[in-house]
Amino acid sequence: MTKLLCQVCGGPADEDHRGVLWLIEDSREDYEGWPEDLLTTHPPICLPCVGNARAECPHLWAGSVALRVGRSEVCAVYGRRYAPGRLGPVPTEVGVVAFEAPVAAWVMASQLVRSLSDCSVVSLDDELDTVAASRH
Ligand SMILES: [Zn+2]
Repeated sequence: MTKLLCQVCGGPADEDHRGVLWLIEDSREDYEGWPEDLLTTHPPICLPCVGNARAECPHLWAGSVALRVGRSEVCAVYGRRYAPGRLGPVPTEVGVVAFEAPVAAWVMASQLVRSLSDCSVVSLDDELDTVAASRH
């Protein structure tokens, strides 16, 4: 997540002049302007892995959308919060907590979170065609 490596193979994620490639659950219904400022625990992805995975398990990608992300920042963690208790820390809710939040020291973090901005939704077919064309 910190080095923008592919979530599947661990190699460098794909990046071009529009930004880094992300494959994200399609939540365009969530809010106007989605996915600007989206918070995600998913690392980016490289084009060969997108192509392979989509060819091998098409159902997996049915609800997903490809994004080019111009800017992103590791800004928070996802994990379980704790609160002080009489006999020690007591677990409370699970969720995203910003690094600068006062409660950050009370989180058992399990994943890093990146905020995505300068995003554009792209066609996965077009992205994969670009790769195919550049190989000829
Ligand atoms: Zn990969």
